[in-house]
Amino acid sequence: MVDHNQKLLQELQKKSGNNVCADCGNLDPDWASYNLGIFICMRCASIHRGMGAHISKVKHLKLDRWEDSQVQRMKEVGNNAAKNKYEERVPPCYRRPNKNDPQVLIEQWIRAKYEREEFCHPERQSYLSGTMEGFLMKRGKEDSRYQLRKFVLSENEDTLKYHVRENKEPKGVLKLSELNVAFAPSKIGHMNSMQLTFMKDGSTRHIYVYHEDPEVISNWYTAIRCAQLHLLQVAFPSMPQSDLVLRLPKDFAREGWLWKTGPRPSDAHRRRWFTLDNRKLMYHDEPLDAYPKGEIFVGHESNGYCIKVSNTGNGCKDARFPFQLVTPDRTYCLAATTHEDRDGWLAVIQQTIKRPLTPQDSTSFMQTGPRRTLWSKNLSSPRRLLQPPQAAMESYY
Ligand SMILES: [Zn+2]
Repeated sequence: MVDHNQKLLQELQKKSGNNVCADCGNLDPDWASYNLGIFICMRCASIHRGMGAHISKVKHLKLDRWEDSQVQRMKEVGNNAAKNKYEERVPPCYRRPNKNDPQVLIEQWIRAKYEREEFCHPERQSYLSGTMEGFLMKRGKEDSRYQLRKFVLSENEDTLKYHVRENKEPKGVLKLSELNVAFAPSKIGHMNSMQLTFMKDGSTRHIYVYHEDPEVISNWYTAIRCAQLHLLQVAFPSMPQSDLVLRLPKDFAREGWLWKTGPRPSDAHRRRWFTLDNRKLMYHDEPLDAYPKGEIFVGHESNGYCIKVSNTGNGCKDARFPFQLVTPDRTYCLAATTHEDRDGWLAVIQQTIKRPLTPQDSTSFMQTGPRRTLWSKNLSSPRRLLQPPQAAMESYY
């Protein structure tokens, strides 16, 4: 039976602000933190419980018994007032997670808000200075072992470097302004991991890192974004900050196995790990490869790009759901193993093709080597690279 207090809570929960989770925006939250006075979803409630009752006291709106004073507290605070307090000084580079984001992002967002109160006390935000140094576990290029490496972030130098030995020259120097950082925890197999993608000698390179402490990896992520935002502000001084934030790294739109044929009709289907990173569709032999085998620039529909279902497979029994990605350079014959998977790929590639090009889209394909002709293949590299129209390129992003 619904008692009086539960009825009051249900009415409160319908109010604007309370009808979405205070932390991840999930609809119709049915949990609450009754000392903080906020309505939250089940996933966030378990993170609140993990912080301990001295930070957050969690109850279900319907399944638990509520005291009058607790309901009163929910009425007095609510999600809007709590947001004003706990999110007062969220830096613009900070990625505010949504309900589908990786656990490490949501958990660190909640801990930053209520446990460390970072956004009430900006001096606790250690990731804003443009520099960071520390150790991360990095996967080997040739073998799958992870080794401790020292990483050094420098906004002034526009670099993220890593060292095998602390006092020696860096083993790798990544240009911050061309660096993409993504969370891919299930692929990497570690909750607190990041994939760093950058250009090296004209090819895309991936490195994979993790740290046992989720706060450390989250701080690195935010520090990289913060430095990148500052570099963008210098490069585009007249552009509104809200537009620049949209240019900060995003997680991959989609990843997974697909079947791919070569350029000749007689070529067999091969299984490849595909990653759609903004406008760059990469394919790899294995998910954690250091280099993609090939990269396809996914341009705008007005430049001749389209994607379509094809009805003719070429007899490969696993490549049952074929589709074609048409580019001005070549038609790629791909195939998924399930109907749902093909629908998923068609949807994200279609969205990409319809999205207008930005200068940043093109630079992910900027080559350090000589550019020969528009859309030419860089045959000097074993990994095929396609180049976007030079007209769409700018010197930065
Ligand atoms: Zn939530």
